[in-house]
Amino acid sequence: MEAKRFIIHGKINKNLEDSLIKHGFVVDEANPEFVFSLGGDGTMLEAIHKYMHLDDVKFIGINYGKLGFYTDFVKDDLDIVDLIINKNYKTEEFRLLELDVNNSKYYALNEILVINPVHTQNIKVLVDNAELETFRGTGLVLSTPSGSTAFNKSLGGSILAPSIDGYQLTEMASINNRVYKTLSSPLVLASKNIVSLNFKTTDGLQIQVDGKVVNDNEFDNVQIKMAAKKVKLITKNDTLFLERVKKSFLE
Ligand code: NAP
Ligand code: MN
Repeated sequence: MEAKRFIIHGKINKNLEDSLIKHGFVVDEANPEFVFSLGGDGTMLEAIHKYMHLDDVKFIGINYGKLGFYTDFVKDDLDIVDLIINKNYKTEEFRLLELDVNNSKYYALNEILVINPVHTQNIKVLVDNAELETFRGTGLVLSTPSGSTAFNKSLGGSILAPSIDGYQLTEMASINNRVYKTLSSPLVLASKNIVSLNFKTTDGLQIQVDGKVVNDNEFDNVQIKMAAKKVKLITKNDTLFLERVKKSFLE
């Protein structure tokens, strides 16, 4: 049998590494099948962005005292090695959001943010090429169902169940008065919808993908849609979405 290839990203855990190697796994930095992310969601997002280009990769999150919405396992779950060998785990697929700016594509697990911390930003919002509104304010966020509990939640967006095949548009500090008007409530779109954002000026405007700034060139519009691309996470067999929500936000 071919050896299983793995890499540990984030914190160091010698016990885990030794145990994997003892069970016939080999370290493969460039082409792992299993990426162990040791930390919190921030670490998992890093790991996913580093390895999402690989087709057959699975991510396993081990939480080190962070919120860890994406990390089902805890530090002392060493039986995780047995779970993997015995295939006694569940995999969950997360569909990504795709951002197209100047013919470059970026993928988000949580969200794509357009934000202007300096000037009020005008954004013409089109859905499937039909104009919806002209937004004026600080920015807009487009989030996936699994990202709905992150920045989106802080903005008063809804938490979406993972089985919902769609994405959400939320506003950041929209200006609403007799001259300017926006929807002013979160909007859940179908996965087939395509959002275009058009900008007359982009002075001070930033685009962030999962918390990282991506734009450095000039642009006057971006397209956002649900990607065909997915990432696979290994989760505990028994984790229910609402239990995760409860554990993360209510306990
Ligand atoms: P960070 O600023 O350390 O993250 C902020 C918090 O968001 C952390 O507690 C993180 O959990 C948590 N988080 C990340 N993804 C989540 C999810 N899907 N559901 C629930 N909570 C989640 O930055 P980071 O760790 O690199 O994470 C980047 C993400 O932070 C961005 O994608 C954005 O969603 C979020 N963020 C939120 C705000 C806000 O709410 N005002 C501002 C900036 C960024 P861990 O502690 O486990 O890392
Ligand atoms: Mn973090």
